[in-house]
Amino acid sequence: MLTPLQVDPRAFAKDKVGYFRYGVVDGKVLMTNLVGEHLFVEPDDFRRFLAGQVERAEPLYEALRRRYFVKDDMAVDELAEKLRRKKAFLRHGPHLHAIVTTLRCNHACRYCHASRTDMDAVDTDMSLDTARKVVDFAFTTPTPLLGFEFQGGEPTANWPVIEFVVDYALEKNRYEHKELLLSLVSNLTLMTDEKMRWLVDKGVMVCTSLDGPADLHDKNRGWMEKQSSHAVVTAWMDKFNAEWVRRGFDADLFHVDALMTTTRYSLDRGPEIVDEYVRRGIRSIHLRPLNPFGFAVNTWKQIGYSMDEFLAFYKTTLDYILELNRRGVFIQERLASIFLTKMLTPDDPNYSDCRSPCGSGSAQLAYSYDGTIYTDDEGRMAAHMGNDFFKLGHVDTSSVDEVLRHPTVKALAVASIQEALPACHSCVFSSTCGVQPLHNYMFDGDIFGQRPLSRKCQEFYGVQAYLYHLLSNDTDGSVQRIFRRWTIQRSRPGTTPYAPAAEVSS
Ligand code: SF4
Repeated sequence: MLTPLQVDPRAFAKDKVGYFRYGVVDGKVLMTNLVGEHLFVEPDDFRRFLAGQVERAEPLYEALRRRYFVKDDMAVDELAEKLRRKKAFLRHGPHLHAIVTTLRCNHACRYCHASRTDMDAVDTDMSLDTARKVVDFAFTTPTPLLGFEFQGGEPTANWPVIEFVVDYALEKNRYEHKELLLSLVSNLTLMTDEKMRWLVDKGVMVCTSLDGPADLHDKNRGWMEKQSSHAVVTAWMDKFNAEWVRRGFDADLFHVDALMTTTRYSLDRGPEIVDEYVRRGIRSIHLRPLNPFGFAVNTWKQIGYSMDEFLAFYKTTLDYILELNRRGVFIQERLASIFLTKMLTPDDPNYSDCRSPCGSGSAQLAYSYDGTIYTDDEGRMAAHMGNDFFKLGHVDTSSVDEVLRHPTVKALAVASIQEALPACHSCVFSSTCGVQPLHNYMFDGDIFGQRPLSRKCQEFYGVQAYLYHLLSNDTDGSVQRIFRRWTIQRSRPGTTPYAPAAEVSS
């Protein structure tokens, strides 16, 4: 979709042209800069701009100046303030703390990344003593926003640790006064009425896995009990949602969220998957591609696909989501909303896998059942596959300072500062994109990776190119209106919106 444009470097007015990146979308030149501003211009106007021939009296000049593309008339202080706001996430410490309460799980999903064990492997349960140390450790990180997210395995298989962490964190926060967010990522198959009421009482939000209609979900997500996982999951989703409503909470904000993983079986079923999400009252769907590591390596031939195939699925499904929005059904695509927030607003949504530098070890940490601390949950999985590079310490022996200043955290930051990375530094999407060094490591064997050959780069490039394509062809402004709505993240009362760790790492 993006094509090169021949530009004569001799006709370049260095004293008039500010710093920007560019590409060609649908015959127009897309200009972007480091604070995420963008502008489409005709190729001839672009050449005139480069040659310093756009006159101050022209509307084009003002459009370029307002977006900081004009050097000799640039509001530098204003630009610096915008950059400070875009990178505000750098001022916070790790706010996502994923706690692996156990590796035990009653499912055997085809794409499982979580290095699960069978249900009798109780030696992979976190102890209450370790859980206490995890909470104490997390509270000492320098962040006003603290999110605990229970993961596994199936985290509810070790229910006492969930109860303990929630009660202990709430008690501790009576004098720590952090903004506390509690969430559970569960397949819901071990849920009971009593546990549901307790979770709602304590304000623990639930996120589950939902891959689409029953046959698709059950094909992807095998359950040892030989029952339909879909039937159980959706019944609990409906029950939780009814409980929140019964207690008078806003259903738009208080409902069970879900994550879907795209397998080969999903590729021609995008609209059906979206319909299933709408039916369950979910307002956001993240069309997530399969990561070919973990258990999925063994089944890749069966359920995997090329990135071109994924992007075709993504575009068809996004078109369908837009069509639903035009008909008054609100549902957003999560990755699109992350990019759109960067493209259309002064803010950055602080999504760990898509920011520069990435948030592994600096925005999020993961605690394995034995108290080992990793950069994130994927770092824990890498360790399970035999590489300890992403291990940062242990709650028994490490200080927060040692963990946050760990050489691995620094290396991951260096490997994800896009302004300095080959290919990214000149890519038109650089200011709205992100690199995840752990993905590079898994695919290429080094944290820097090879762009544009890396799978994540191809995904992010393809999605952003499509979003700009839709914006550049938006003659009546209807797409822009829908997209702007997707950038508004309403927060639950007393909380700030944040990207759940599971979204980041699973
Ligand atoms: S990761 Fe790829 S798409 Fe993103 S900025 Fe780098 S080169 Fe561009």
